[in-house]
Amino acid sequence: MRLAQVLFTQGFGTRRVCAGLIAGGLVALHGRTADDPDEDVATEGLVFTVQGRTWEFHESALVLLNKPAGYECSQKPKHHPSVLSLLPAPLRTRGLQPVGRLDEDTTGVLLLTDDGALIHRLTSPKHHVPKVYEVTAKHPVDARQVERLLAGVVLDDDPKPVQAAACVATGEHTLQLTLTEGKYHQVKRMLAAVGNRCEGLHRSAIGELTLADGPPAGLWRWVSAAERAALL
Ligand code: URA
Repeated sequence: MRLAQVLFTQGFGTRRVCAGLIAGGLVALHGRTADDPDEDVATEGLVFTVQGRTWEFHESALVLLNKPAGYECSQKPKHHPSVLSLLPAPLRTRGLQPVGRLDEDTTGVLLLTDDGALIHRLTSPKHHVPKVYEVTAKHPVDARQVERLLAGVVLDDDPKPVQAAACVATGEHTLQLTLTEGKYHQVKRMLAAVGNRCEGLHRSAIGELTLADGPPAGLWRWVSAAERAALL
Protein backbone atom coordinates (compact mmCIF):
# COMPACT_ATOMS: atom_id res chain seq x y z
CA MET A 1 0.00 0.00 0.00
CA ARG A 2 1.25 3.52 -0.69
CA LEU A 3 2.53 5.18 2.47
CA ALA A 4 0.16 8.13 2.03
CA GLN A 5 -2.71 5.64 1.78
CA VAL A 6 -1.52 3.91 4.95
CA LEU A 7 -1.77 7.15 6.89
CA PHE A 8 -5.10 7.98 5.30
CA THR A 9 -6.68 4.64 6.24
CA GLN A 10 -5.33 4.95 9.79
CA GLY A 11 -7.05 8.27 10.37
CA PHE A 12 -4.29 10.84 9.96
CA GLY A 13 -6.38 13.20 7.85
CA THR A 14 -7.20 13.80 4.22
CA ARG A 15 -4.99 12.32 1.53
CA ARG A 16 -3.43 15.75 1.04
CA VAL A 17 -2.69 16.15 4.77
CA CYS A 18 -1.19 12.64 4.90
CA ALA A 19 1.04 13.30 1.88
CA GLY A 20 2.10 16.56 3.54
CA LEU A 21 3.04 14.83 6.81
CA ILE A 22 5.20 12.38 4.88
CA ALA A 23 6.84 14.92 2.55
CA GLY A 24 7.47 17.12 5.59
CA GLY A 25 9.63 14.40 7.15
CA LEU A 26 7.25 13.74 10.06
CA VAL A 27 6.79 10.02 9.38
CA ALA A 28 9.29 7.27 10.14
CA LEU A 29 9.35 3.62 9.13
CA HIS A 30 11.70 1.08 10.69
CA GLY A 31 13.73 3.83 12.34
CA ARG A 32 14.28 6.01 9.24
CA THR A 33 12.42 9.04 7.97
CA ALA A 34 10.11 8.03 5.14
CA ASP A 35 9.50 11.14 3.07
CA ASP A 36 8.08 9.61 -0.11
CA PRO A 37 4.24 9.48 -0.02
CA ASP A 38 4.35 6.95 -2.89
CA GLU A 39 6.62 4.48 -1.12
CA ASP A 40 5.09 1.01 -1.28
CA VAL A 41 4.88 -0.57 2.17
CA ALA A 42 3.74 -3.97 3.42
CA THR A 43 0.94 -3.36 5.95
CA GLU A 44 1.01 -6.67 7.78
CA GLY A 45 2.46 -6.07 11.24
CA LEU A 46 3.46 -2.56 10.18
CA VAL A 47 4.59 -0.18 12.90
CA PHE A 48 5.30 3.42 12.00
CA THR A 49 5.72 6.73 13.78
CA VAL A 50 4.00 10.02 13.07
CA GLN A 51 5.43 13.10 14.73
CA GLY A 52 7.36 10.83 17.09
CA ARG A 53 4.34 8.78 18.19
CA THR A 54 4.34 5.06 17.39
CA TRP A 55 1.34 3.54 15.62
CA GLU A 56 0.36 0.02 14.61
CA PHE A 57 -1.42 -0.54 11.29
CA HIS A 58 -4.84 -2.11 11.88
CA GLU A 59 -7.12 -2.68 8.93
CA SER A 60 -10.04 -2.39 11.30
CA ALA A 61 -9.55 -0.89 14.74
CA LEU A 62 -10.57 -2.63 17.97
CA VAL A 63 -9.39 -1.06 21.21
CA LEU A 64 -9.92 -1.63 24.91
CA LEU A 65 -10.49 1.52 26.95
CA ASN A 66 -10.29 1.50 30.74
CA LYS A 67 -13.28 3.75 31.19
CA PRO A 68 -13.13 6.19 34.09
CA ALA A 69 -16.27 7.51 35.80
CA GLY A 70 -17.66 10.76 34.44
CA TYR A 71 -17.76 9.87 30.73
CA GLU A 72 -20.76 8.97 28.60
CA CYS A 73 -20.75 6.21 25.97
CA SER A 74 -22.45 8.43 23.46
CA GLN A 75 -21.39 10.44 20.47
CA LYS A 76 -23.63 13.26 21.60
CA PRO A 77 -23.20 13.26 25.37
CA LYS A 78 -25.67 15.23 27.45
CA HIS A 79 -24.01 15.91 30.81
CA HIS A 80 -20.43 14.62 30.68
CA PRO A 81 -17.74 14.30 28.03
CA SER A 82 -17.91 11.37 25.64
CA VAL A 83 -15.60 8.38 26.05
CA LEU A 84 -14.53 9.17 22.48
CA SER A 85 -12.75 12.27 23.81
CA LEU A 86 -10.31 9.88 25.55
CA LEU A 87 -9.13 8.51 22.20
CA PRO A 88 -6.42 10.12 20.07
CA ALA A 89 -7.43 12.05 16.95
CA PRO A 90 -6.65 9.28 14.40
CA LEU A 91 -9.02 6.87 16.18
CA ARG A 92 -11.73 9.52 16.42
CA THR A 93 -11.28 10.25 12.71
CA ARG A 94 -11.81 6.56 12.00
CA GLY A 95 -15.20 6.80 13.68
CA LEU A 96 -14.76 4.30 16.47
CA GLN A 97 -17.93 3.50 18.40
CA PRO A 98 -18.41 1.83 21.79
CA VAL A 99 -19.45 -1.83 21.66
CA GLY A 100 -22.51 -1.57 23.91
CA ARG A 101 -22.64 0.98 26.69
CA LEU A 102 -21.45 1.51 30.20
CA ASP A 103 -23.26 4.06 32.35
CA GLU A 104 -21.59 7.39 33.02
CA ASP A 105 -20.63 6.27 36.56
CA THR A 106 -19.51 2.75 35.58
CA THR A 107 -15.78 2.13 35.16
CA GLY A 108 -13.68 -0.56 33.49
CA VAL A 109 -13.43 -2.56 30.28
CA LEU A 110 -15.04 -0.91 27.28
CA LEU A 111 -14.41 -2.02 23.71
CA LEU A 112 -14.57 0.41 20.81
CA THR A 113 -14.30 -0.35 17.13
CA ASP A 114 -14.84 1.05 13.64
CA ASP A 115 -16.10 -2.35 12.45
CA GLY A 116 -19.90 -2.15 12.29
CA ALA A 117 -20.30 -5.88 11.71
CA LEU A 118 -18.25 -6.59 14.82
CA ILE A 119 -20.40 -4.24 16.94
CA HIS A 120 -23.48 -6.00 15.63
CA ARG A 121 -22.06 -9.40 16.39
CA LEU A 122 -20.77 -8.59 19.87
CA THR A 123 -23.99 -6.84 20.94
CA SER A 124 -26.36 -9.42 19.46
CA PRO A 125 -28.51 -11.31 22.01
CA LYS A 126 -27.10 -14.51 20.48
CA HIS A 127 -23.61 -13.51 21.53
CA HIS A 128 -22.78 -14.90 24.95
CA VAL A 129 -19.30 -13.74 25.86
CA PRO A 130 -19.31 -13.34 29.67
CA LYS A 131 -18.99 -9.86 31.10
CA VAL A 132 -17.79 -9.65 34.67
CA TYR A 133 -18.96 -6.83 36.94
CA GLU A 134 -17.67 -5.89 40.39
CA VAL A 135 -20.57 -4.41 42.31
CA THR A 136 -20.52 -2.30 45.45
CA ALA A 137 -23.91 -2.57 47.10
CA LYS A 138 -25.62 -0.16 49.49
CA HIS A 139 -26.94 -2.90 51.81
CA PRO A 140 -25.10 -6.02 52.99
CA VAL A 141 -25.15 -8.79 50.38
CA ASP A 142 -26.73 -11.96 51.71
CA ALA A 143 -26.91 -15.53 50.45
CA ARG A 144 -30.58 -15.15 49.52
CA GLN A 145 -29.79 -12.23 47.17
CA VAL A 146 -27.01 -14.22 45.53
CA GLU A 147 -29.37 -17.20 45.09
CA ARG A 148 -32.04 -15.01 43.52
CA LEU A 149 -29.57 -13.35 41.13
CA LEU A 150 -28.46 -16.82 40.02
CA ALA A 151 -32.00 -18.18 39.76
CA GLY A 152 -33.23 -15.20 37.72
CA VAL A 153 -35.12 -11.99 38.45
CA VAL A 154 -37.83 -10.24 36.49
CA LEU A 155 -37.08 -6.68 35.41
CA ASP A 156 -39.77 -4.09 34.79
CA ASP A 157 -39.66 -4.14 30.96
CA ASP A 158 -39.72 -7.88 30.23
CA PRO A 159 -41.57 -10.78 31.87
CA LYS A 160 -38.74 -13.14 30.96
CA PRO A 161 -36.37 -13.44 33.95
CA VAL A 162 -32.71 -12.52 33.60
CA GLN A 163 -30.14 -14.44 35.54
CA ALA A 164 -26.49 -14.09 36.40
CA ALA A 165 -24.22 -16.69 34.79
CA ALA A 166 -22.18 -16.51 37.99
CA CYS A 167 -22.52 -14.55 41.21
CA VAL A 168 -20.38 -14.57 44.33
CA ALA A 169 -20.32 -12.30 47.34
CA THR A 170 -16.77 -10.94 47.56
CA GLY A 171 -17.29 -8.95 50.77
CA GLU A 172 -20.06 -7.69 53.03
CA HIS A 173 -21.06 -5.03 50.51
CA THR A 174 -19.48 -6.36 47.32
CA LEU A 175 -20.26 -9.03 44.80
CA GLN A 176 -18.99 -10.24 41.47
CA LEU A 177 -21.69 -10.77 38.90
CA THR A 178 -21.17 -12.36 35.48
CA LEU A 179 -23.69 -11.69 32.72
CA THR A 180 -23.88 -13.06 29.20
CA GLU A 181 -26.36 -10.47 27.97
CA GLY A 182 -26.51 -6.70 28.17
CA LYS A 183 -29.86 -5.09 28.85
CA TYR A 184 -30.17 -1.42 29.71
CA HIS A 185 -28.87 -0.78 33.28
CA GLN A 186 -29.03 -4.53 33.76
CA VAL A 187 -26.78 -4.87 36.81
CA LYS A 188 -28.36 -1.93 38.63
CA ARG A 189 -31.86 -3.21 37.89
CA MET A 190 -30.99 -6.75 38.97
CA LEU A 191 -29.63 -5.46 42.27
CA ALA A 192 -32.78 -3.39 42.79
CA ALA A 193 -34.93 -6.45 41.98
CA VAL A 194 -33.40 -8.34 44.92
CA GLY A 195 -33.94 -5.41 47.29
CA ASN A 196 -30.41 -4.01 47.26
CA ARG A 197 -28.91 -1.01 45.46
CA CYS A 198 -25.84 -0.72 43.25
CA GLU A 199 -23.63 2.10 44.48
CA GLY A 200 -20.52 1.34 42.48
CA LEU A 201 -19.99 -0.64 39.30
CA HIS A 202 -16.81 -1.72 37.57
CA ARG A 203 -16.56 -4.08 34.59
CA SER A 204 -13.44 -6.13 35.16
CA ALA A 205 -13.62 -8.42 32.12
CA ILE A 206 -15.21 -9.17 28.78
CA GLY A 207 -14.35 -12.77 27.98
CA GLU A 208 -10.58 -13.09 28.36
CA LEU A 209 -10.02 -9.35 28.19
CA THR A 210 -9.22 -7.94 31.62
CA LEU A 211 -7.40 -4.96 33.04
CA ALA A 212 -4.79 -7.11 34.81
CA ASP A 213 -2.01 -5.73 32.57
CA GLY A 214 -3.53 -2.26 32.19
CA PRO A 215 -4.15 0.14 30.69
CA PRO A 216 -4.67 2.53 33.63
CA ALA A 217 -8.01 4.34 33.93
CA GLY A 218 -8.59 6.77 31.06
CA LEU A 219 -6.14 5.04 28.71
CA TRP A 220 -6.61 2.54 25.87
CA ARG A 221 -4.73 -0.24 24.11
CA TRP A 222 -5.11 -2.21 20.91
CA VAL A 223 -6.89 -5.57 21.08
CA SER A 224 -4.70 -8.13 19.31
CA ALA A 225 -5.94 -10.35 16.48
CA ALA A 226 -5.83 -13.40 18.80
CA GLU A 227 -7.84 -11.57 21.48
CA ARG A 228 -10.36 -10.49 18.85
CA ALA A 229 -10.72 -14.05 17.60
CA ALA A 230 -11.32 -15.27 21.15
CA LEU A 231 -14.25 -12.86 21.51
CA LEU A 232 -16.14 -14.28 18.54
N1 URA B 1 -25.29 -2.70 34.01
C1 URA B 1 -25.57 -1.47 34.48
O1 URA B 1 -26.53 -1.29 35.23
N2 URA B 1 -24.77 -0.45 34.13
C2 URA B 1 -23.68 -0.59 33.34
O2 URA B 1 -22.98 0.39 33.07
C3 URA B 1 -23.40 -1.87 32.85
C4 URA B 1 -24.21 -2.91 33.19
